[in-house]
Amino acid sequence: MKLTVLGKWSPYPPAGGACPGYLVEADGVRILLDCGSGVVANLHRSATAFDLDAVVLTHLHPDHFTDIYPLRNELAFGRLPNPPAAPLPLFAPAGAGGYLAACLPKAESRQEFTSGFTFYTLEDGAGTVRGVRLRFALTVHPMPCHAVQVAAGGRRLVYSGDSGPCEALDRLAAGCDLFLCESTLMEADAHLAGPLGHLTGTMAGATARRADVKRLLLTHFFTPRYALQETHGAAAKEFANVAVAEEGLAYEV
Ligand SMILES: [Zn+2]
Ligand SMILES: [Zn+2]
Repeated sequence: MKLTVLGKWSPYPPAGGACPGYLVEADGVRILLDCGSGVVANLHRSATAFDLDAVVLTHLHPDHFTDIYPLRNELAFGRLPNPPAAPLPLFAPAGAGGYLAACLPKAESRQEFTSGFTFYTLEDGAGTVRGVRLRFALTVHPMPCHAVQVAAGGRRLVYSGDSGPCEALDRLAAGCDLFLCESTLMEADAHLAGPLGHLTGTMAGATARRADVKRLLLTHFFTPRYALQETHGAAAKEFANVAVAEEGLAYEV
């Protein structure tokens, strides 16, 4: 299994960066986890929308879904004069189809948008994409958000989505090979973890330690004032095998 980081910033991308998006490839299957601003452009460094077998949107905060519109446009128009691609499986919170389509001005546009996807709800707790197994667990966040486990070929990747400290996240991540975990907050803001539903580097490291994962990769950095070294150092005090996600890099799971 391979994980390529397409975007790691929130709530807006810096120059040349992107909001959350991660391409997972396993057994010839490609799954996009989240689709924030700038993700489609970065996807094009190694693949196209037509190469995807499924998309997972962990929740409906804009930094995690706004590039779903250009992705849909590529599927509709990217191979003209050929017809649009077949509907793409989209795992998302219940009601996501109506929510995502609501900003489009005409009923016809809304129908066109939703017809491009086959919707599955994260609340079902699990799914499969051509033999690759997905599991979802509700995290601690101001709106419903699910962490995602991807399992194939005896390997497991777990992506936290957005979350404060969360027992369900600990259980989903237990023993996984690679734990991609948000670490949005600076250490001085640890008291905000519960109310905002985010983690510090220390908390991400402690989650990895409790879950006894093999490797920790930190992501979802707060763009306006981020000190990646501070977060990495704080996480490393809790869990030694940790790195900061790099956009464009691929990681073996
Ligand atoms: Zn969020
Ligand atoms: Zn976020």
